[in-house]
Amino acid sequence: MDKVVIVGSGIAGLSCAIRCAGAGMHVVLVSPFPSERSQSVMAAGGINAVTSDHESGDSVSSHIEDTLKGGCYLAGRMAVSGLCSHAEDIIRYLEGIGTVFSVDEKGRPMRRAFGGQSFKRTYYCGSGTGKIIVSALVMEARRLEAAGLITRMLWQHFHSALIHEGVCRGVLLFDDRTGNLHPIYADAVVMATGGQNALFGKTTGSTQCDGYAAGMLFMQGAQLKNLEFIQYHPTTIETPQKRMLISEAVRGEGGRLFYQEDGKRVYFMEDKYGEKGNLMTRDVISREMESTGRDIFLDVSFLDKATIDNRLGEVRDLCMKYAHLDICRDPIPVAPSVHFFMGGLAVHLNHETNLRNLFAVGECASMYHGANRLGGNSLLAAIYSGNVAADEISGRASDENTHDFTLEIEKKKEALARMFDSQSRFPSLYIRNMLSDTMRKNLGIVREESSLRHGIEELEYYISIADQIRYDSSVNPYDNYSLTGILALARATLECALERKESRGSHYRSDYPETDSTQSFASLVSYDGGKYTVCPDKECFYES
Ligand SMILES: Cc1cc2nc3c(=O)[nH]c(=O)nc-3n(C[C@H](O)[C@H](O)[C@H](O)COP(=O)(O)OP(=O)(O)OC[C@H]3O[C@@H](n4cnc5c(N)ncnc54)[C@H](O)[C@@H]3O)c2cc1C
Repeated sequence: MDKVVIVGSGIAGLSCAIRCAGAGMHVVLVSPFPSERSQSVMAAGGINAVTSDHESGDSVSSHIEDTLKGGCYLAGRMAVSGLCSHAEDIIRYLEGIGTVFSVDEKGRPMRRAFGGQSFKRTYYCGSGTGKIIVSALVMEARRLEAAGLITRMLWQHFHSALIHEGVCRGVLLFDDRTGNLHPIYADAVVMATGGQNALFGKTTGSTQCDGYAAGMLFMQGAQLKNLEFIQYHPTTIETPQKRMLISEAVRGEGGRLFYQEDGKRVYFMEDKYGEKGNLMTRDVISREMESTGRDIFLDVSFLDKATIDNRLGEVRDLCMKYAHLDICRDPIPVAPSVHFFMGGLAVHLNHETNLRNLFAVGECASMYHGANRLGGNSLLAAIYSGNVAADEISGRASDENTHDFTLEIEKKKEALARMFDSQSRFPSLYIRNMLSDTMRKNLGIVREESSLRHGIEELEYYISIADQIRYDSSVNPYDNYSLTGILALARATLECALERKESRGSHYRSDYPETDSTQSFASLVSYDGGKYTVCPDKECFYES
């Protein structure tokens, strides 16, 4: 293929762009904001890899087993094996382009353990892993841009894909500066638009990750997978703008969770799960925290100051800034919050969706994490998936593209113009706020049939009034037109959660508290003219 358009320029989009350009393709990389403002820069904890100088006893197969087990056996072994066995190459590549991982005084790589890991295999760069990886990838992308292989376009929001007879031919973009829609035709389109945080209002993630692109593609015929699996990160703190993440690195360095009872500390995770209690997987810890019904604290005050300064400096600064706490002395009050989405666009092993020439990579695709993601595996998956898609695209011949999209594009422009003039009853921001209330209330750490049905009823109402949106000039035009896709995604998520009548990983149903081995399959959801159909992914019945 000759030309690819990549939507989203976080770590996944950048990785895919660099690899495609390296193979000689022309890449158009679009996003509303620079890569340096993508959610990827927030990643603080690290990236997993078993390298040849691994910790004694560790192995790639142990990384594979931990990932499969952590995901409650809902990720395919073949995909996870590919991910883990390429991790060392990815670390070496990142080092080669200027990522400086933390080393000890002898120059040996430092690694920490994240939850659900049998060994210490999380590489990190102080407390700014995401930032440092993004800046190394951006430098590479700039080099290829200077060589004319990458064209970078900022201030561009995805509007919809140009699809004819099940084949994707390009994208329609909304230019934030001019307010116009314009097409980009390409041999392949790669979506790298991140997670779906904005469905839930305040989360640990970026509001740029609103799920609109996945929702719109869903309405255009792309299937979504495993949406019910939403990761609540156990340790976050409330701030006026968002839930601030207290990285798992804190527990990786020895941090202990406790609550107070009769003037004494109860280390509830250690009491129940022993020595590794504070490093159980995120789904387990979040559920245990919620079930105590108490205020939970995280303590690192017993660590020496040098460890806190060198390895947890960013956490120390953010606790001081937002909670006025000195973590060298005070325990941190923490609570679970929405953090990561294991579900997303359904893709084959080569990262192509069910629509030909439409690919999805990074957090917007569902592939490696099953029912629960292990910390440090997401950055790895973002880079690996970008590489896999790039290799597939660059090795494929271009399809002939003869279809004329002019009429379709004109109709979409007219619909958008009508919306911008709309004086209807419901301001889009009002619906967005109601939506996040609905999602938080009904798709919490613990779910049950009645609340899920209630959530679906509320969503049906929001969808029914979505064509009466009043254009809200106080927000970006994109925030007005994106509502329809976001509502469709939200409804699909509730439908998937209702359909999975068992508890597994991050999906806990109080009315079906056990894991049902007959349900060891991913769920697929499709959309047809307002009808949502959830069915097991027949191709993928996983081991348990
Ligand atoms: C606070 C925090 C800490 C984390 N720490 C770690 C960690 O230590 N280790 C780890 O492995 N993982 C971590 N994660 C998860 C990890 O950072 C993400 O899963 C990963 O960075 C996702 O990369 P991505 O490229 O898929 O998406 P993103 O980095 O989210 O990039 C998405 C891109 O798509 C663009 N975009 C979005 N919507 C549209 C649209 N409609 N039109 C056009 N463009 C659009 C955005 O502007 C952006 O450029 C953390 C996440 C958070 C929130």
